Amino acid sequence: MHGLSAQELLLIWEVGLRQHPLDRALTILALALPEAPRDELLALSVGQRDAHLLAVRERTFGAQLAGFAECSACQERLEFVLDVADMYLVPETEDGTRGMQESVGASLWAATAQVHELTIEGYALRFRLPNSLDLAQVVRCGDVAAARTLLVQCCVLQASQDDGAVAVAALPETVLTTLVESMGQYDPQAEVQLNLSCPACGESWSVMFDIISFFWSEICVQAKRLLRVVHTLARAYGWREADILSMSAARRQLYLEMVT
Ligand SMILES: [Zn+2]
Repeated sequence: MHGLSAQELLLIWEVGLRQHPLDRALTILALALPEAPRDELLALSVGQRDAHLLAVRERTFGAQLAGFAECSACQERLEFVLDVADMYLVPETEDGTRGMQESVGASLWAATAQVHELTIEGYALRFRLPNSLDLAQVVRCGDVAAARTLLVQCCVLQASQDDGAVAVAALPETVLTTLVESMGQYDPQAEVQLNLSCPACGESWSVMFDIISFFWSEICVQAKRLLRVVHTLARAYGWREADILSMSAARRQLYLEMVT
C-alpha cells in the first residue's frame, strides 16, 4: 500500500466524479493496493475496506484529519482535528500494522472469507460479514427493512433449527436484529462514531464517520488545487502537465511561489 501520488489523485477524481461512493472506494483501493486482485478488494468486509481507506488516507494526507459539524442545539459551527491513529477500531496485526493494510494477499483473503457462528432463540446460524458486493445490491433497496433482509440473505450461509434447515426468509424478526448487531460487533470499523461536544452550549452527541465521503471531499479539493497549479506553471514555463505532476510537492510549491 502506498499514499496517492498527484497523478493518482487526479485520476481518482476524474473517474470518481461519475461513480457511486461504493465504487469510488474501490477505485481508490485499486490504485493504492495494486497488488490486491479486484476480487479480494470486493470481498473485503465493510470494516476491512474502511480500515484500508483510512490507511491510504493517512499516507496521502497525513496523520490528522480536520472536520466540522454544526451543533444540533445552538447551531454553533465546530471545527475539530482528529488523530487518524485513534480511529482504527481493529487491533494491530502481528507485524505491527493497523487495519491489515500490509497483509493483502492470502492472509487477507482468509480473514475475509471467515465464517462466524451464532445461536439465537434455538436457531443456529453460520454467516460471513457484509462486503462491497452485498452493499451494491442493498443500495437499490427502497427501504431499510428490505435492505436488511437482502443483506441477511447475502451473508447467511446456513440457518438451521433442531438440525433441520431453515430458509433465511423464515427467520423471526428478533433473530435478524440480533444477527445484524452481531455482524457489527465482528466488524467494528464498519461503524465509526465520533463523539462531539459543543464548547458554546455543552451539548454532546455522536455522528457516524464516513471515511468514503470524507476522503472523497479531500480528494476533490486537492485535485482542483493541483489543476490550478498545473495551469499556473504550464502557462509560466510551458511545461507539460505530466512533468508538473511528477515533481515533488515541495518543488512544485517553490516554482509556484516564484511565479505568483
Ligand atoms: Zn451548541
